Amino acid sequence: MTLHIPFDNSYARLPDPFHSHQPPTPVQAPSLIAFNHDLAAELGITGTDDPQLASYFAGNMLPQGAEPIAQLYAGHQFGQYNPQLGDGRAILLGEVVNPNGLRRDIQLKGSGQTPYSRRGDGRAWLGPVLREYVVSEAMHALGVPTTRALAATRTGQDVIRDRPLPGAVLTRVAQSHIRVGTFQVFAARGETDALKTLFEYTVDRHYPQAQDPSDLLQMVMDRQAALIPHWMSFGFIHGVMNTDNCTLSGETIDYGPCAFLDGFDAHGVFSSIDRRGRYAYSAQADIIAWNMAQLATSIIPLMPDQDRAVDQFTKQINAMPELIRANWLSRFAAKIGIASPAPDDETLITDLLILMHKDQADFTNTFRALVNDTGRDQFVDRAAFDSWRARWQSRIERETAPDTIMKQANPAFIPRNHRIEQMIDAAVAGDDDLFHRLNRVLANPFDDQPDESDLAAPPQPSEVVKATFCGT
Ligand code: AMP
Ligand code: MG
Repeated sequence: MTLHIPFDNSYARLPDPFHSHQPPTPVQAPSLIAFNHDLAAELGITGTDDPQLASYFAGNMLPQGAEPIAQLYAGHQFGQYNPQLGDGRAILLGEVVNPNGLRRDIQLKGSGQTPYSRRGDGRAWLGPVLREYVVSEAMHALGVPTTRALAATRTGQDVIRDRPLPGAVLTRVAQSHIRVGTFQVFAARGETDALKTLFEYTVDRHYPQAQDPSDLLQMVMDRQAALIPHWMSFGFIHGVMNTDNCTLSGETIDYGPCAFLDGFDAHGVFSSIDRRGRYAYSAQADIIAWNMAQLATSIIPLMPDQDRAVDQFTKQINAMPELIRANWLSRFAAKIGIASPAPDDETLITDLLILMHKDQADFTNTFRALVNDTGRDQFVDRAAFDSWRARWQSRIERETAPDTIMKQANPAFIPRNHRIEQMIDAAVAGDDDLFHRLNRVLANPFDDQPDESDLAAPPQPSEVVKATFCGT
């Protein structure tokens, strides 16, 4: 059968400034590493036994109906405004619409240069491609809104980084690729017509209930205020929350220097370029409000009375920390077995986190151990844990099903940094077994899977990953 993707490319129909028409650049020897058949089926993609699958998802052949474009956007990178970013190494093939009307972007990442490549080669190496595949699919299985991975292919040609490395292409699926930075680019250029078109497009695609820019802002804020505590509840650090990596849909996007905490460190930073900890674990809640303030600033020109808009948006943004705090409280309350938290449960949670931070207790395993009440083993200062435990036990006596709640909030498996590194090293040497094994185990992160317990173990001292690098 021939691959069939039911495309309807609404973004490609937007006018000129939004994108550049740009086909992917063919590669030497495409070979498929992975294809996500379940996701393809959800999207209404058929003919996935096509022997040319690798050619399609490496960019050597275009599926019928694709209209490849590179999208324009800008963004604040580490707080500095960069007036033009855009898809420098990604190409949107189009939007698939399944028989139920579900619409998703299908994008190749690492598929060659575009007008926005600046000095980059438009390529990706195998490491970041496999990392994004595993981590984005793991996040999905954890229940976190995220872009997904449809395919990964080797290109059969090297890319030059600090040394030659095998090239690869990731096929990413997203609700859309509209970013805060997409609004910023038109706002900064004073292109109010384009801004208005983008606003209408975004409302139509993601927030049909939104009546005006203030509604849109609120709805995006609500999703982001839910997303970041969700990340934090699994010890996830995004690592590069620039405004171009912040979606209007509320999905997690861009798995570059991301990492999961092993031992709990509230100020954990892994990204080698995040020297000041702007995107540290606990800073994520503040930075998302900063990003939303940039979105608010960008859409002010759409408001009839701009002074009043400033007041209105300021009030909305100022209310965001409380929104995040409420979501954080319910996420972490669930982790200790509490269905609907009371205000003073916050102290119970933070007291545990303080003990964990002090002892560098493994984030994932400590919470998971609460399910069978073996948390004590995770601590050095066991007396301190015991007295916390006594308070906790008396609190959860009032809960009807604490174990069930905890088991659903505390995964046994996360994509641990050292396993990701081992997977990449093996794949560079031509062995994809760990990649496939991680995908399989992480598809059911809340199940015990006793045969896979080595993947739940924290790193040995020699295995600890100290820094992660951008996915270029
Ligand atoms: P990211 O780190 O993925 O958020 O990317 C930031 C910007 O750098 C985006 O505009 C990318 O398209 C661009 N970029 C990253 N890597 C490359 C590359 N290898 N070639 C061209 N552009 C790139
Ligand atoms: Mg990006």
